[in-house]
Amino acid sequence: MRVLTGWVNRLVAFANLKIDRTIWKSQFYEFMRSPKFKHSWRADDLWMEDADCRDVLKIRRLQRRVQKYLELISQDKCKPKEQRRLSTFGELLEDVQSYSMENGLAHFILVIKPEDSDLYKSFYQTRVTKWGGEKIKIGKFPTYNSFEQYIYTCLAEALESGDLFNTARCARKNCGKFIFGERKSKQFCDNNCRWAYNNTREARKRMRRVNAERRRKKGLERIANFS
Ligand SMILES: [Zn+2]
Repeated sequence: MRVLTGWVNRLVAFANLKIDRTIWKSQFYEFMRSPKFKHSWRADDLWMEDADCRDVLKIRRLQRRVQKYLELISQDKCKPKEQRRLSTFGELLEDVQSYSMENGLAHFILVIKPEDSDLYKSFYQTRVTKWGGEKIKIGKFPTYNSFEQYIYTCLAEALESGDLFNTARCARKNCGKFIFGERKSKQFCDNNCRWAYNNTREARKRMRRVNAERRRKKGLERIANFS
């Protein structure tokens, strides 16, 4: 089955959310708003039916759990590759597994025919089921009935796709934002953090001092030539 990517972005966004009790409802709707479809998919249903997602204390507890997992990954990345162990994430793996067993993670199935050409083509990693001369693909889409189930779906999908381990923490101290992206040694949440990091680094400071000294000497030489 094709693994859908993109779930990790939702996890990172949730971990970075500055939850404010007084405006949580609008934050929740904004969070659930699909960037693609520009409306809060399922947000109304969840808000009405899932009492836990209206409970800011429970949401914060869930958020801390996600933050802890992402932090663990970020820390383990500082180790050399050969020292990294999946067992470091034992609690995370166990958590996703037991959540799924106790509460269930659900999927709905879509039979995709070649005449649904765009969708059919976009499921390029999916096995083609053939019978006679005809072909179909079976699309598997996660679905959820509570906000917690949604977050665990994100965790499970991001684990399955491997994206979860491409998360990190912004390299600038005091920022603390989680990010997802290409695997560089130093990652930043935005250009401001990159700039701030590069311009406060000790090495850079020293370079500036050296350059200033060089300029000063050049200036002195020039004055000496005039006199
Ligand atoms: Zn940052």
